[in-house]
Amino acid sequence: MNCIFCKIANEELKPDIVYQDEKILIFKDIEPAAPIHLLAIPRKHIKDAFEIKENTDVIMHIFKKISELKDELNIREGFRIVNNCGENAGQTIPHIHFHILAGRKLNWPPG
Ligand code: 5GP
Ligand code: ZN
Repeated sequence: MNCIFCKIANEELKPDIVYQDEKILIFKDIEPAAPIHLLAIPRKHIKDAFEIKENTDVIMHIFKKISELKDELNIREGFRIVNNCGENAGQTIPHIHFHILAGRKLNWPPG
């Protein structure tokens, strides 16, 4: 499958990885929108948030790890998790990913 995040999961592409285990990876976004901008993905190809219901274990694992790694990720002062699902939300890569944004005051509401 020609999926850029599957290629990262398979180690064909090597982003700046900050955490990985057998189920998930967390790596730096190539175009950061905040001083800290990470992407958390499952290794498994899950298309989008509509497919979370069949994959609750790995999604829970992502959120658990983000919390456990708050010091290593430098997000203790606060962070935002964003998931864009589908075209109207601007999802550009059809492999579910959670943006982790931190390192400055974040505007609300988003555009
Ligand atoms: P989306 O718009 O789908 O919610 O987010 C996709 C994100 O992936 C964007 O923030 C974009 O900068 C990031 N991105 C796209 N290609 C790559 C890549 O090859 N490596 C990394 N590290 N990030 C990427
Ligand atoms: Zn994929």
